[in-house]
Amino acid sequence: MEVLTDINLKGALKKYFGFDEFRGKQEAVIKNLLAGNDTFVIMPTGAGKSLCYQLPATIMEGTALVISPLIALMKNQVDQLNSHGIEAGFLNSSMNRAEYDAVKQKAINQELKLLYVAPESLVKDEFIEFLNQANISFVAVDEAHCISEWGHDFRPEYRRIREILNRIRNVPIIALTATATPKVQLDIRANLRMMETPLFITSFNRKNLYYEVRPKSNPNQQIIQFIKQNMDKSGIVYCLSRRKVEEIAELLKVNGITAVPYHAGLDPATRTRHQDMFLNEEINVVVATIAFGMGIDKPDVRFVIHYDVPKSIESFYQETGRGGRDGLEGNCLLFYDYNDIVKLEKFMKDKPVSERESGKLLLYEMASFCESGVCRRKSMFHYFGEHFDEVNCNGMCDNCRNPKETFQARDLVFLALQCAREVQEKFGISHMVNVVRGINNQQVTINEHHLLPSFGKANHLKEKEWKSIFSQIIIQDFLIKDIDDYGVIKLSEKGRDFLNKPYDLDLVKFRDYEEIKQKQEQIPTENFKTYDEVLFEKLRKLRREKAKELGKPPYILFQDPSLEEMATKYPITIDEFTNLVGVGRGKAEKYARPFMKLIKEYVEENEIERTTEVVVKSAAKRSMVKLFFIQQVDRKTPLPEIASAKGISYGELLDELEQIIYSGTKLNLDYYIKEEMDEDLVEDIMDYFMHSETDSLDDAEKELGGDATREEIQLIRAKFMSEVAN
Ligand code: ADP
Ligand code: MG
Ligand code: ZN
Repeated sequence: MEVLTDINLKGALKKYFGFDEFRGKQEAVIKNLLAGNDTFVIMPTGAGKSLCYQLPATIMEGTALVISPLIALMKNQVDQLNSHGIEAGFLNSSMNRAEYDAVKQKAINQELKLLYVAPESLVKDEFIEFLNQANISFVAVDEAHCISEWGHDFRPEYRRIREILNRIRNVPIIALTATATPKVQLDIRANLRMMETPLFITSFNRKNLYYEVRPKSNPNQQIIQFIKQNMDKSGIVYCLSRRKVEEIAELLKVNGITAVPYHAGLDPATRTRHQDMFLNEEINVVVATIAFGMGIDKPDVRFVIHYDVPKSIESFYQETGRGGRDGLEGNCLLFYDYNDIVKLEKFMKDKPVSERESGKLLLYEMASFCESGVCRRKSMFHYFGEHFDEVNCNGMCDNCRNPKETFQARDLVFLALQCAREVQEKFGISHMVNVVRGINNQQVTINEHHLLPSFGKANHLKEKEWKSIFSQIIIQDFLIKDIDDYGVIKLSEKGRDFLNKPYDLDLVKFRDYEEIKQKQEQIPTENFKTYDEVLFEKLRKLRREKAKELGKPPYILFQDPSLEEMATKYPITIDEFTNLVGVGRGKAEKYARPFMKLIKEYVEENEIERTTEVVVKSAAKRSMVKLFFIQQVDRKTPLPEIASAKGISYGELLDELEQIIYSGTKLNLDYYIKEEMDEDLVEDIMDYFMHSETDSLDDAEKELGGDATREEIQLIRAKFMSEVAN
């Protein structure tokens, strides 16, 4: 070993990997490992953790054993090492027996510097036998957070690593991870018997990333707007489900953004192709589940959007970490809706209890992060156990850029701390919130906490407001979350001092994201109603004239909702017309021109600023279904059969068919009508619509008396529209 520590490390770095300098703490880590010591490394993704074991493995005698959970990455790393001329191999469940044995033999012959292995293989008895035959230089546990149930990627086999290693010759261990909250760190250390091991940690602060959380109202519109403002830049949109990924990718495409989907449900060839398209910049945006991004190293990803809330702050950090790797711009935008948290919680219901419980806590941390008015960096790094005084945000988050309203919180902070003391620092936030709000539930009564002085002292605040206060004073280190006993809150030194000698203190006012969201959602509908009435009247007049010329009822051309939208958005091109409700390309081509002309003149006359607001086209899901209906009608499938194929009622199918017809597609329904209805009745109804002022079903029903059912009338209305309007 002495010889090795004296080796010119930089020379080896250059020789084997072609790099001139070590990054961050790499050199210190490597020296510690070469000296035969256990080593614990926490560095953010992309910091260069692999090199911390790859370089020592290369220069030490024997074979380094690398435990890694990701089979896909193993091959990648081995290929890379081989390309540097370093002998490396891997063992995992994807190999056949012969391949497997060949690699083992190579290791025994000392022909491998590194051997990667998946945890499943590690725990087999025959593997331990093999380890004793091979000359293992040291063991690297990559992605070490997988050890902890409290981490975001728990792997049960990882917990057995120590037990396996005890059965082989004593060698140094290096554990590496990108994310470890204090709780997870402790778990890893305890599990690997590394309590005294020196820790090498690099700051997690990615200074160039801008963090923003927005309430999830109209997310589709917001995303398109955001991406259009960032046109021609690379970005990733993360969604939780495959279905959502497909839907959003489609939505972006229809709206003129080059995007591809990426998720585990696609076949490997398609996945690789989509990934390459992104890397080669043939497209700008990947819409993906979290399956995307592991191991991709595109330096100039300019934005990372979370369509759905991530499962934990760790996930959020890792996923946003794929932005701005080159140190330049990186915008991280998260759409938050508390309902998503509830949904995620429901998804976990089939998991084992302990996993469910820890999953829930991770989710709640995520929710309070989103709802918080405190600097995003500060909350995030506090969560990771980094001291927040050292973290400077420089206005690189929404909460710093637009500071939230604050209030004098001296008395409330005092009350919160007093409560923590009175419950003897043995309870979590929810319970203490119940106490200060005077909620007399079972847990409160059993512990006789309704008798405490702090009980019910501040019931004028909502539960959410109190939770926000507690989480803020935790971030400010007045209270500490107990590491051994998750969720239990203790007083810190600072907290005790405050109780002895309270001082003025500002906290951020709680903002109810639910309320904000609901308010925002109301805006578009209100806008919709406040159309330009003068223009609307002109449009109606024009519609009447044109209808007369054509000898058709007015609603055949455009229906009222379409006119209202014209009077809101002032469309002046065919494309813009096709974006209106109830207007498809066919209808636009056929009827739009005089209306376009009128709107254009009107806009010019009145010097109206047309809204440059992005018009969101609805995505393909619907058009796929539409296509299905059209095809089935072409094939003359009886209508009830079509309806049941899509799991909708007959009435709903008629609505759908009418929508298709209204937007300008001809559908010939005669095959079905002839089978089902009396010829004279059909004629009567056709005649009625020809002369009626309105297309209302109610009116038609009244007029036609009991002769036809509502459904029959609607069916014929569809036929009428198709024949007369299209
Ligand atoms: P991590 O495992 O920490 O996420 P990796 O080990 O995959 O990160 O390294 C990320 C990238 O940094 C790789 O492309 C690697 O080649 C590069 N890298 C690592 N160390 C250095 C260095 N000293 N100089 C230059 N590039 C480095
Ligand atoms: Mg790594
Ligand atoms: Zn900030």
